[in-house]
Amino acid sequence: MGRTLILLLASWVLFWLLRRAFRRAMQARRDAANAEQTSGGRTAAQLNLVACAQCGVLIPQAEAIPAHASDHQSLQYCCVEHQRLGPGQRP
Ligand SMILES: [Zn+2]
Repeated sequence: MGRTLILLLASWVLFWLLRRAFRRAMQARRDAANAEQTSGGRTAAQLNLVACAQCGVLIPQAEAIPAHASDHQSLQYCCVEHQRLGPGQRP
């Protein structure tokens, strides 16, 4: 009788632990999906437009080419050619 009770208790504990682990895994997956949605993945960065330092065309931050280390760090370029030319004389 005592052995049956212990076996029942052990199986219940095992079931409870498995259920808890499963719920945590589901919650982690849901959190990851939410984080991806709120940040928008690449889209949020793409919508953040920056002007090319050479021609002034607006380009998504994700596609902007940063200036050389010797130049101003905040400068961004639309293409490698404009990066090579450096900042242009814009009004
Ligand atoms: Zn440009």
